[in-house]
Order: sequence, then structure tokens, then C-alpha cells
Amino acid sequence: MPEAANNGTPQQDGGTGPVGNHVHTLTIAEVVAETAEAHSLVFDLPAESQGRFDYQPGQFLTLRIPSDRTGSVARSYSLSSSPLLDEKPTVTVKRTIDGYASNWICDNLEAGMEVSVLAPSGMFVPKDLDRDLLLLAAGSGITPVISILKSALHAGTGKVTLIYANRDPEAVIFRETLRELAAAHPERLTIVHWLESLQGLPTRAGLAALAAPFTEAEAFICGPGPFMDAAEQALREDLGMSHGQVHIEVFQSIEGDPFEEIVIAEPAEDDEPGVELTVNLDGETHEYSWPRETKLLDFLLSKGLDAPFSCRQGACSACACMVLDGDVEMLHNEILEPEDIADGIRLGCQSIAVSDSVTVSYDE
Ligand SMILES: Cc1cc2nc3c(=O)[nH]c(=O)nc-3n(C[C@H](O)[C@H](O)[C@H](O)COP(=O)(O)OP(=O)(O)OC[C@H]3O[C@@H](n4cnc5c(N)ncnc54)[C@H](O)[C@@H]3O)c2cc1C
Repeated sequence: MPEAANNGTPQQDGGTGPVGNHVHTLTIAEVVAETAEAHSLVFDLPAESQGRFDYQPGQFLTLRIPSDRTGSVARSYSLSSSPLLDEKPTVTVKRTIDGYASNWICDNLEAGMEVSVLAPSGMFVPKDLDRDLLLLAAGSGITPVISILKSALHAGTGKVTLIYANRDPEAVIFRETLRELAAAHPERLTIVHWLESLQGLPTRAGLAALAAPFTEAEAFICGPGPFMDAAEQALREDLGMSHGQVHIEVFQSIEGDPFEEIVIAEPAEDDEPGVELTVNLDGETHEYSWPRETKLLDFLLSKGLDAPFSCRQGACSACACMVLDGDVEMLHNEILEPEDIADGIRLGCQSIAVSDSVTVSYDE
């Protein structure tokens, strides 16, 4: 029989079908209307989830949203709370025009309701909060950025510059919070608002001019596609910032179902000997014999490890790990750039071994 990681518990968010035991249930403590189009969901953390929901500034949760049409859909939402402040985990969702899940969330979710989520994950995280940070956000792209900003002001020592684009003043998510933070940290925080109603759409040249004094900083960009393209070109091409200095978070909808039970294929009878696998995860080292045709993430989950993941389709980078020894091949990759791969980063959800022994780390 195939090995399955599944408790089959029906979820109380209305989703149907089996879910794996990698799925957690959070209760909504509060829904906050941030603007006419954006709601924050503030979660209570159940006692049994304490420690399993540790997250870093810039990471995201993946939520399971019920659907009459498909049973459920999965969507990722960045945490706008800071893990370093005494804040409950919070995601902030902005309505997408004609979008399904974002509108369902804003129309239906209330305090006291339960939501199925996957553990926090993502690579849009500053390695060093003491560095100067250059943050470029547009619209809902502020969500991971404000978590980074609050965390850096609280625990870091560097200067933080936020360039924040919105349609008009009413559309500015966290306007009041940002005003208060700027007043509290006048020496460290600079906020430049770009309002389309006054200045038109953000341009590459305009963003380059605003960012030019901060080219030594570590940069984080998040927003709609055209904004991110303009910002990335401004920083990398016009200002010459290096690949490793500029981090980008792409917001896109997940197509598959990362909540479904995880079934691990039985190795074929004439299978070659397994690969010697060493995994560093959450400060612990694990060693296994890894079947060659089984994807790394599926295998680790089948062993009961809390390896991070979200889309499981090679599109989101939540499952990224660092190959320290040996090599793996990714069957599909829509998100890692050649520079990431050259650095040894791989997507666990798409990786199969191509050497006889492999060492990977999720802790780098
Ligand atoms: C890492 C990451 C972080 C993100 N963080 C944020 C964030 O902080 N804030 C934020 O607002 N967004 C965030 N996003 C974007 C978010 O995940 C969604 O992509 C966004 O909310 C749009 O989803 P939507 O379902 O509303 O719209 P769409 O995905 O555009 O909805 C249309 C899709 O839904 C399908 N659909 C339509 N009706 C139904 C139905 N009844 N049942 C099933 N399917 C249906 C359609 O076939 C179509 O595929 C993030 C994305 C990623 C990857």
C-alpha cells in the first residue's frame, strides 16, 4: 500500500475532501477593514500549534477557501504582523477584481470562524535586520513589506526607506500605522508615497531616481507585475544593484491543491538502492534512504517532517532548500532564477536525486 500522510478530518471552513496532517486549523480572532478593498484576518494560535507557527518577517500563510465549484481553492497571503512584536499572526487580503478567493474572504470571513492553513513559509526574508533596507511596495504588496519594516525598526539598527505606490490616499493600506511609525522613528524611517492620482503610474525612471541614494541597502520589492518589473529594472539595471541584494515576492494564485493528502509512490520492485539523504531542518539533522523517483518534499512529509511548502507545483518557492552536497534535478521550476540555482537553491517539491548521496538544508 502507498504510504499516506492524512488524517482525513473534515475541515470546518467548508472545504471538502481529504486533507493531509500537514494542515492546521486557526480561529479568526478579528477581521479588520483596512481600506474599502482590504481586510486583515487576525488569528488566534491554538496551544497545539505554538512553535509550529514560528515565522519570519516577510513569510506567508496558505489558506484553504471553500468553493461550491471545486470543493476548495488554495491561496497564499503574506503575514502583515511582525513575529518579533507581540502581535497575533495576521494576513491582509485585498480584493482582486473578478477574483474568487480574495472576494470570498472579504465577504464571508468573520471572527470566530476557523480556517485551514499551511504552516508559514517563504524566502522573502531579510537575513540581517541591522542592514539598511530599501522597500518598494505597491497596493497589497505592502503586506510582507510592513512585517519586514516593523521587525527591522523593532529589532534592527539600520535605516529603512519605504517607497509605496497606491492609486489614491484612500487605497493606502496601513496608512495610519505607517504615519505613527514614521513619527516614532524619524531618524531611521523614511516613507515616500507615490500616488497614481497625482503622479500617474510609477515609472522605472521615477523609481530609479527615488532609490538612487540607497543602493547599498538590501532591497525588497512586492506589488503588481508591472510595478515589480519597473522596480526590478530600476534597481538591477539602472542602479546596478546585485542579484543577491534585490529580493522579489511574486503574488500569484495557486492552481493545484496543496491541502490534499500526500501519497508516496511505492518504490518499484527492481528499484536501485535508495539515495543516502541528510536533511537539516529546524536545527535537527535527519538521515534516510531516499527512493530515487520520489520527490524530496513528498518523501520528507511522508517521514513526518515539517518541511515547508505551499503550491507543490514549482511555482512559489515556499519549499526552497539549499543543496550542500550531491545534486538534485528539478522536474519543474517557474520561480528560481539561474543565480539562485547557481547558489545551490532548489525547490524541494520538484527535486529528485541525481547523485548517490545528497545533503540539503532548510536552515541556511
Ligand atoms: C507568496 C504570496 C503571497 C501573497 N500575499 C498576498 C497578500 O498579502 N495579500 C493579497 O491580497 N494577495 C496576496 N497574494 C495573492 C493571492 O494569493 C491571490 O493570488 C489573490 O488574492 C487573487 O486570488 P483570487 O482568487 O481572488 O483571484 P483569481 O485567482 O484571479 O481568481 C480567479 C481564479 O479563480 C477561479 N475561480 C473562480 N470562481 C471559482 C469558484 N467558484 N471556485 C473555484 N475557483 C474559482 C478561476 O477559475 C480563476 O482561476 C499572495 C500570493 C503569493 C504567491
